[in-house]
Amino acid sequence: MMPIVSHWPKPAPGRGRGYRIVLGAILGTGVGGGLVVDGRLINAEGGFAGEWGHGPAVASMAGTPPVAIPIFDCGCGQRGCVDTIGGARGMERLHLTLHGKSLPSHEITTLWQNGDAEAARTIDVLVDLISSPLALTVNITGATIVPIGGGLSNVTPLIAEIDKAVRARILRKFDRPLVVPGECRIEPGLIGAAVLGLAGDV
Ligand SMILES: [Zn+2]
Repeated sequence: MMPIVSHWPKPAPGRGRGYRIVLGAILGTGVGGGLVVDGRLINAEGGFAGEWGHGPAVASMAGTPPVAIPIFDCGCGQRGCVDTIGGARGMERLHLTLHGKSLPSHEITTLWQNGDAEAARTIDVLVDLISSPLALTVNITGATIVPIGGGLSNVTPLIAEIDKAVRARILRKFDRPLVVPGECRIEPGLIGAAVLGLAGDV
C-alpha cells in the first residue's frame, strides 16, 4: 500500500534495531504489548499480537516466600489479568493487598530503592507475577529483545530485576539483557499509534 504521507520518515527502530523479532512491552498505568517482525507491526485484522497484559494468567501464589494473590477484576471484562497487578495501578493494588497501605507507585519504587522491606516485598511479588507470563510470551513469539515503555520503564533497577527473572524462565538462554528500557522516553504508545495511522496500517 502506498504511504499516505510519502515524505514521512521511516520510524527510528529504537532498542529493537537489528533484531528480527521485537516484543515491545508497556509497563505504564497498566500492562500491554505489541509484536514487530522484520520491522513490521503484526497487527493484521486489528489483532492483538504480543498483547500479554490480558487474559486470566496471574498465578494464585507469588513471591519468596509465596503469598496468596487475590484474583482482581480487570477493565477488559476478565479476571486475573497481568494488567491488574503489573503496571503502576497494579503495583499500588499489590502494595495495598500485602501491607494495607495505599501509596502511589513512584513512592513504592523509591522506598524499594531505599531499602524499605515492605516495598521490597511488593516488588518481589510483582516481578514474580509478571515474569512468568512475559517469559511465556517470549517463548511463543521467539522475541530476542523486549524493549519496555511506559512510566515504570524509567525505574531501571526494576527493569533489570524483570530481565533477570524472565531470562531465568525462558527456554532460550541469553548472555546479555533481554528486557531493556525502550529508547523512546516520551509517550511511545501515542507515537506508535500516530505512525500506524499515517501509514494507513490500522
Ligand atoms: Zn484484562
